Amino acid sequence: METKQFKAESKRLLDMMIHSIYTHKEIFLRELISNASDAIDKLYFKSLTDDKVGLNKDDFAIWITADKDSRTLKISDNGIGMTEEELENNLGTIANSGSFKFKNENKLEEDNQIIGQFGVGFYSAFMVAKKVTVITKAYGSDKAYQWESEGVDGYTITEAEKANAGTEIILEMLDDTEDENYTEFLDQYRIKGLVKKYSDYIRFPVKMEVSHSRPKEQSEEDKEAKKPLEYEDYVEVETLNSMVPLWKKNKSELKEEDYKHFYTEKFYDYTEPLKYAHVKNEGVPSYNALLYIPGRAPFDFYSKDYEKGLQLYSNGVLIMDKCADLLPDYFSFVKGLVDSEDLSLNISREMLQHDRQLKVIAKSIEKTISSELKKMLKKDREKYEEFWKAFGLQIKYGAYSDYGMNKEKLQDLLLFTSSNEKKLVTLDEYVTGMREDQKYIYYAAGDSIERLEQLPQTELVKDNGYEILYLTDKVDEFVMRTLHSYKEKEFRNVSSDDLGIENTEKQEEIKAKEEESTDMLKTLGEALEGKVSKVVLSQRLKTHPVCISTEGDITLEMEKVLNSMPSDQKVKAQRVLEINPEHEIYGKLKALSDSGDSEKLGKYAKLLYTQALLIEGMDIENPVEFSNLICELM
Ligand code: ADP
Ligand code: MG
Repeated sequence: METKQFKAESKRLLDMMIHSIYTHKEIFLRELISNASDAIDKLYFKSLTDDKVGLNKDDFAIWITADKDSRTLKISDNGIGMTEEELENNLGTIANSGSFKFKNENKLEEDNQIIGQFGVGFYSAFMVAKKVTVITKAYGSDKAYQWESEGVDGYTITEAEKANAGTEIILEMLDDTEDENYTEFLDQYRIKGLVKKYSDYIRFPVKMEVSHSRPKEQSEEDKEAKKPLEYEDYVEVETLNSMVPLWKKNKSELKEEDYKHFYTEKFYDYTEPLKYAHVKNEGVPSYNALLYIPGRAPFDFYSKDYEKGLQLYSNGVLIMDKCADLLPDYFSFVKGLVDSEDLSLNISREMLQHDRQLKVIAKSIEKTISSELKKMLKKDREKYEEFWKAFGLQIKYGAYSDYGMNKEKLQDLLLFTSSNEKKLVTLDEYVTGMREDQKYIYYAAGDSIERLEQLPQTELVKDNGYEILYLTDKVDEFVMRTLHSYKEKEFRNVSSDDLGIENTEKQEEIKAKEEESTDMLKTLGEALEGKVSKVVLSQRLKTHPVCISTEGDITLEMEKVLNSMPSDQKVKAQRVLEINPEHEIYGKLKALSDSGDSEKLGKYAKLLYTQALLIEGMDIENPVEFSNLICELM
């Protein structure tokens, strides 16, 4: 018999399972039951349109059999089964498991997180078993097969005997060790508890023969003689799960705990959800939905591996695991499910996309999410800020993308860090707090709050007592551009040329100084030819000697972001070097200019320009020249 090797990454996962120190090893049962339920779902689905299946809904079941003598635990189902090829593909290659993607190296800490955060599927059996045997017969096939493996060394597939379609998974449990007790998984009470805990809402009955004992009938004589009772054992088939889907129950029957528990079990997220909503929509189409806002972003959330979507059921039958059309991208973090009786069961994925009913449901779900978020923002700010930390970026992308098509819907969900106490504020709060003479909503964009706090360009704005929004995410400034204005107040970058701050006296003064120093500014400009479009005296600087501002549409921060993207076309912001006429450097430059030393003036220009770049967090164009210049002028 040929022993086959696992595919490389399957081997790694298997290895991880075998050596797992994960404390919730018990989840293996949940995984196997859920696989069984999935398999039954598939055959049940078929049975609705295909009489040949010959089974009614009530005939489907998952059976658990524990045998302490042989130390085996068997999970059987009468679902769709697997062909030889499917056995090979599904159990030999874990890449076929939708629930697992390799991200981390083989470090135990992280392994545990992976196991905790996902269902890792079939291989989790190896956390508790030394040998796993799968006997399966695919529906419609007349041959059965047996898959067997003792772990990383590989597996075998042989022909087998099995009467009906379905699958049996037989685990030979590991021996107990000092730290680990595997025998307990053969205990009927433990098994009952686990099914209740993890698989209570599985739609098909999970059955087990449970043994009880009862007192034997006593004869009158024995009773008279007050003989002690004798007990006898008997077995009874019990259904261990309650089956009724949570979302079909009445809201009044359900407690917060039930919803949270359901979430953990269904979405394998051990962090509590921030919020949930149970929607019962009686309109047309009628539907039930359970929606959750997770407490944290899954580790792949901001990668292209992340798949958004809600589970879609048609009257309790799962049609699709991740129906992407039910969620707009900006709410892609929402987890949950939708169950509608008005959706046809036989709908294909392609047709679903064009289904009118589905579109109506999606619209209504979007409204629910949006109003739940707004409610949270209003009533539970702390929680909302937690939400914002996890998923704010996604909302911002939403406001910016599709040419701002959804900006109106999303703008009131946005939060930005304010220069006032560095707390998060909404745009509405900003505008409400605006000073009477304030024309614009000011913002500064850069890598970090610390840096922005020290940005020379903010001096004048702050001096006027205006609040500034600190933007530190790459997408932020693009969001501002897309929004353009909020409640008729335009957004303005603090380094743009027009800040809308009037100070006629100062302006006059600077104008006069500029006239005095035309030559100087010209020489400086010439020295920085190609780098800046002009050199001016600054109206916005208070204490800093120089800064760079920009003319036109592209700011320095946008230049940085755009140029970091993979594209051949590089953009360049139109830079203006501003010199503070109140700083002593101005006097120095002026004196140099008056003395006619334009060569030295040119060197100063380069120094000051580079210094301004440094403050902005931009790359220095020529570090060697800069360093040489410093030494020379020292
Ligand atoms: P997932 O359930 O996320 O797809 P698993 O590792 O749990 O990943 O299972 C891998 C695959 O093996 C399943 O997708 C399914 O095709 C197949 N499988 C597992 N258990 C059964 C079963 N009891 N009946 C039929 N197919 C099964
Ligand atoms: Mg599975």
